[in-house]
Amino acid sequence: MQTKNIAIVGSGLVGSLLALYLRKRNYNVTVFDRRPDIRTIKFSGRSINLAMSVRGWKTLDKIGIGDEVRKLAIPMYKRTMHVQGEPIYHQYYGKEGEAISSIPRGILNKEMITLAENAGAVFRFNEKVWDVNLPEAKIYTGETEKSEWKEYQYDMIFGCDGAFSRVRHKMQRRSRFNYSQKFLDTGYKELGIPANPDGSHKLDKNSLHIWPRGKFMLIALPNLDGTFTCTLFMPHEGENSFEKLTNDDEVMSFWEQYFPDTIKIMPTLLSDFKNNPTSALVTMKCYPWTYWDKVALVGDSAHAIVPFYGQGMNAGFEDISILDEIIDELGRDNWQDIFETYQKSRKPNADAIAELSYRNFIEMSSKTADPDFLLRKKIEKHFSEKHPDKWLPLYSRVTFSHRPYAEALKTGDQQASIMDRVMEMENIENIWETDEVEQYILELLAEKTYKLQN
Ligand SMILES: Cc1cc2nc3c(=O)[nH]c(=O)nc-3n(C[C@H](O)[C@H](O)[C@H](O)COP(=O)(O)OP(=O)(O)OC[C@H]3O[C@@H](n4cnc5c(N)ncnc54)[C@H](O)[C@@H]3O)c2cc1C
Repeated sequence: MQTKNIAIVGSGLVGSLLALYLRKRNYNVTVFDRRPDIRTIKFSGRSINLAMSVRGWKTLDKIGIGDEVRKLAIPMYKRTMHVQGEPIYHQYYGKEGEAISSIPRGILNKEMITLAENAGAVFRFNEKVWDVNLPEAKIYTGETEKSEWKEYQYDMIFGCDGAFSRVRHKMQRRSRFNYSQKFLDTGYKELGIPANPDGSHKLDKNSLHIWPRGKFMLIALPNLDGTFTCTLFMPHEGENSFEKLTNDDEVMSFWEQYFPDTIKIMPTLLSDFKNNPTSALVTMKCYPWTYWDKVALVGDSAHAIVPFYGQGMNAGFEDISILDEIIDELGRDNWQDIFETYQKSRKPNADAIAELSYRNFIEMSSKTADPDFLLRKKIEKHFSEKHPDKWLPLYSRVTFSHRPYAEALKTGDQQASIMDRVMEMENIENIWETDEVEQYILELLAEKTYKLQN
């Protein structure tokens, strides 16, 4: 049987991993990217990182590269909270030993391109896709929108070209294509903490550090070379905002007021602040994700989310492992059914993680420093340790399980309404570890289950 010729637009994390998966099934795969080959670009000296959790690991393990990638990762077992005016404290993410992993984005992407290339995928860098003929699976590349284009004919096209996808752009022009895009008022800027002279980390390296300050926050993720990549999330406009920090004096006095404990460990703060761009954060939703048996969107091109749950790449990788399972179920070249099943299965989950990610910004920036919130978390943890079959906290369901995101959102909302009632108990701050509270939660859970069944 003749194998299909497949084009993937985008050699980012999702496109290059999808190329590897499709090569393992022996399809002819060509990957187009508008960027140069990132393996040939001189290392900029900065290493931007991502948090990988079990959904991402599952997809890497399934294709046999998980252990190789684990060598690049630093486990982060906890949030280390730097609340102003309080001693530093920790919030463990999950059960003992459970961790999310800090991975350098660039190194991971380079590694995956090489693995896909070694498996036989062809990469065409510096080729920007300007247009797509959806029914005929043709793509058009060129220097500029007005220059002469090259035409390529394939059997199928995967759009893995990110949040501002050109492939999706073409699908958007069709009737009954739903699309929405919402920018947050909050933007972000990346900054750095260098390593100590002996290469060690200046802060605990097995933590994700958070400096929550209400409407804005600073976070730091560790890198293998002893550095940390920090991200300042802050409104674009308003009282404490990027528009107000226009020169060194303004940045320094803002820092002295809100992050004084970091000044010593961030010697490049002013130059980072000046040289690194302020970027926007967007949630993008669309549907359908496929066009007949010819074109499919995978990763950010189908569902771009804000980064506060650390799930964007994880969700994109999960798209790939679910697609792979569907191919196994429905038969290798039954593409129309495969695409239909893929989009129906993934869309509710993509919408759910978009909502959860949006909500998590509020949790990370303001609630993590709120005593009521901390007590809620303690009660949930205590109860779930006693009744693991009855209660898996929302964060664990998203980060340390493979249960669908949509289920996590629904169960999380039910748990939140139970916790609202528990927090109304008299003297809850003193009785939270007692049998009375445990019994009350069990009763409320039984009530919920009763309501769900009827
Ligand atoms: C600040 C921040 C922090 C994040 N942290 C996390 C985290 O901790 N954990 C996590 O799971 N996710 C995180 N994410 C999300 C994650 O970065 C994305 O979900 C992921 O990179 C999406 O991968 P992708 O391959 O779909 O798209 P992209 O990474 O955007 O790759 C798209 C590729 O397509 C190419 N391309 C685009 N247009 C064209 C064209 N017309 N022609 C040819 N090529 C084209 C681009 O050059 C690029 O190589 C974060 C995102 C941000 C912004």
